[in-house]
Amino acid sequence: MPIFKPDVETLGRKNLRELQIEKLQIVVNQAYANVDFYRRKFDEAGLSPDDVKSLDDLRKIPFTTRKDLMDNYPYGMFAVPLRDVVRLQFPLGLHGNPIVIGYTREDLKIWRELVARVMVGIGVTEHDIIQVAFNYGLFMGAIRFNQSAELIGAAVVPSSIAPADVQIRIMQDFRSTVLTSTPSFAVHIMENVMRRGLDPKTLSLKTGLFGAEPWPESVRRTLEENLGIRAYDIYGVMELIEPGVAGECPARKGLHIFEDHFLPEIIDPQTGGGKSEGEEGELVLTTLTTGAYPLLRYRTSDMTALHAEPCDCGRTLIRMDRVLRRTDQMISVRGINVFPEKVTEVLAAIPDAGPGYVLLPRTKYGMNDQLTVQVEAAARILEGREEQRTGFQEALQLAFRRAFGLRVDVELIKRV
Ligand SMILES: [Zn+2]
Repeated sequence: MPIFKPDVETLGRKNLRELQIEKLQIVVNQAYANVDFYRRKFDEAGLSPDDVKSLDDLRKIPFTTRKDLMDNYPYGMFAVPLRDVVRLQFPLGLHGNPIVIGYTREDLKIWRELVARVMVGIGVTEHDIIQVAFNYGLFMGAIRFNQSAELIGAAVVPSSIAPADVQIRIMQDFRSTVLTSTPSFAVHIMENVMRRGLDPKTLSLKTGLFGAEPWPESVRRTLEENLGIRAYDIYGVMELIEPGVAGECPARKGLHIFEDHFLPEIIDPQTGGGKSEGEEGELVLTTLTTGAYPLLRYRTSDMTALHAEPCDCGRTLIRMDRVLRRTDQMISVRGINVFPEKVTEVLAAIPDAGPGYVLLPRTKYGMNDQLTVQVEAAARILEGREEQRTGFQEALQLAFRRAFGLRVDVELIKRV
């Protein structure tokens, strides 16, 4: 399989480390000089940017958390003036303050290239027709697939979240060769293909590129068998770039992290102490080239392990295990992130609702495909007239839909 950027993707580990330390020193200096938050953190820790001389020195730098990003909303984490920012993105569904991530023109160019690296690595060429079935309204990464596919010269069909029969019609008529979507939407399309008794061999699909939610190996097998594809995982972090931090290669022994742009570490989520290669822990990333929104030792909440031994594909970039667990209580429903803290926040704003609630995701193929929220309600609602109860339930549903962009079922329960 071709490699998009062999000079970095197959660079020797020693040379890669030299490149990383050079870039790390630059990003640390820029963050210290331009972001008050980092300057304060460094000063409090008695640390100067000059103290970061080797990759081991990275451990001296304090962690950055999602709370830090929220506390510095909107522009406190930006390292460049706004005139240099060309894109502002805000992930939905976060509790507390929102966060906003800025990108310079160069940041977007790098991002476009990283997703293209994944695509080229799994065999996508200018002859392919890529059906992008991500929600363009809710998932900010959707547009990235367009731009990266166009960079390769492939044709893009942004089919978004059109109903399954429309997706299948597009696959048949346009002869799409690549499907990219959340794995749960791919399963939904697959079920429709099966229900209609369509032979997947009559479709032109050969590759699936799926991400934005955890999906077990069993889902991979199901999709491969029933859609006649080879399915690959792509990984991102919404506070950095999503997708494009890492991606699978044909060997499918983990996802190669683009280490020329991100420096990965694995830590014990409880103690913050470093873990060795191969040990599971929380993934911490430091951006090495990001201009607008540099993050030093950002805690992703994703649990994984790293493997540096050579890969069959020829890449020397470190591999991370597929992410199936998190350190927080966030759950993913059809690729939409639901933070329990946000549920608490929604309920706090509605009189007679909460404070208690239970999240009951319905699982299909090992992925959450529907969410029911059992909400504690005041006795006057539960014992009141039926219309009042229904109206209350609908108000809750609407509030959840606004908060998450997701339709949930609401059941009322007694306060305990
Ligand atoms: Zn590989």
